[in-house]
Amino acid sequence: MDEHEITTGLLEIIDQAAYKNSVRKVRKVHVALGGCRHVDQAVLKEDFAHAARNTVAEGAELDIQVLPVRRHCQGCGDTFEADVHDLPCPKCGHPHTEPVSGEEARVVDMEVDPVGV
Ligand SMILES: [Zn+2]
Repeated sequence: MDEHEITTGLLEIIDQAAYKNSVRKVRKVHVALGGCRHVDQAVLKEDFAHAARNTVAEGAELDIQVLPVRRHCQGCGDTFEADVHDLPCPKCGHPHTEPVSGEEARVVDMEVDPVGV
C-alpha cells in the first residue's frame, strides 16, 4: 500500500464521518499510522492536500502519529515492539515472529467547524 492508497482510505473515513456529523469543514485530522508502512509523511501530506480538494477536508492539516510495530513470537508467545521486519524473539531467540500490528491507517480524531458557523 502506498501513500496515495492511504490518502484515499483516509478521505473515505473523513467523508463518512463528516456526513454523519453534519460537518461543514474539517480543519485538522489526527491520523495514526502503523510503523510497518514506512510512509513518507511529506509525500502523504502533499498527496492528501491534492486529493482533499473540493471535499470537506480541503485545506485540512494532517497530524500523523506513527504507531509502534508489535510482533508476536511463535515460540514462547511473547509480544514485543520492533520496528524492523523478521526480528528474532528477544526473549527466546526464536527466528520466526509475526507482526500483530503496524499495518493500520486510521483517523483518530478530527477538528472541525460545526454546521452554521
Ligand atoms: Zn520467543
